[in-house]
This record gives sequence, C-alpha cells and structure tokens, in this order.
Amino acid sequence: MGVDNPLGDNILTASLDGLVNWARKSSIWPMTFGLACCAIEMMATGASHNDLDRFGIIFRASPRQSDCIIIAGTVTKKMLPVIMTVYEQMPEPKWVIAMGACACSGGIFDTYSVVQGVDEALPVDVYIPGCPPRPEALLFGLIKLQEKIMRERNSFGSTIGLGERYDSAA
Ligand code: SF4
Repeated sequence: MGVDNPLGDNILTASLDGLVNWARKSSIWPMTFGLACCAIEMMATGASHNDLDRFGIIFRASPRQSDCIIIAGTVTKKMLPVIMTVYEQMPEPKWVIAMGACACSGGIFDTYSVVQGVDEALPVDVYIPGCPPRPEALLFGLIKLQEKIMRERNSFGSTIGLGERYDSAA
C-alpha cells in the first residue's frame, strides 16, 4: 500500500527563494552567548514557559552550528574581540540581534570601557529596546527576524557564489 497521488488534482508551485527562506526562518539556531543581565531574559525565552523550540529556534553551543547571534548584554571593549571571533566562526548566512539598551546603544553605560552599540562592529538585523527586554520582546524580535529572512532574495544564489542576497523591502 502506498500513496499513489498525494497532490490529488492540485499543483503546488513555489520560488526557490521562498522555499530556502522558509527553511531558514523555521530553523534559526542562535549561538548560546550571553554578556550580562539581558542574557537571563534570553535564557527565560528559551525555557519551557516561552518555548522557542516550537519556532524551530534552538540554541547551539558552537558558532559553527549557529546562524544567529543574540547580543544580550553590555558589550565592553575588552569583550568585543571575543564577540568578533565568535561571529566570524559562524557560517553564512547569519544574522545579528541586538538585545537590550546596552547592546543597541551602550545603555546607561556612557563610559570609556563600553561599546556604544554593537552595530559599531557587527551588522545588526534587529534591535530590541528595553532594560531588560522581557522574553515576549525577544520573541517579537525573533519573529521580526523571521519576516526579514522571508523577504530575502537570491538566498540560494548567494550560497553557491552567485551574487549577494538582499532584502526585497530595502
Ligand atoms: S540593557 Fe539593562 S538589563 Fe540589559 S544588559 Fe544592559 S543593564 Fe543589563
């Protein structure tokens, strides 16, 4: 016994970009990487009450298995080279979320030792304000990232070296 005609009389069509983007946005694997108090909220977002797994969002403990880094906390100038090393070890395509006032702008720490926004060093895709943002805010930011991924064009071409991927809304 088998499935003789699974689609019935229907035909499904889709663009390659649509399929690739759908697969990518349904399997965002963020790097397990926290810097300060915002990281506690990030952990809470991954725990059972908010349950990121239902979105296919699963934290990984290696940059080589991650395609997203959530900068959760204060970025000090001493820590920035470490963040850069971790980011550079992540394979393309990859995305960056700045979580909290510190990661977005330095927050209350307008001092010589704190980077005034991680976007001075990394290409941030989504900014999440707050001190700290609640898990719901991070969840909203991740959904915004999923929407951004779905707008990308030339996703597959860029993977095989044909041009760059770009945001169709930009
Ligand atoms: S934004 Fe607030 S909660 Fe987040 S790391 Fe900075 S001080 Fe801590």
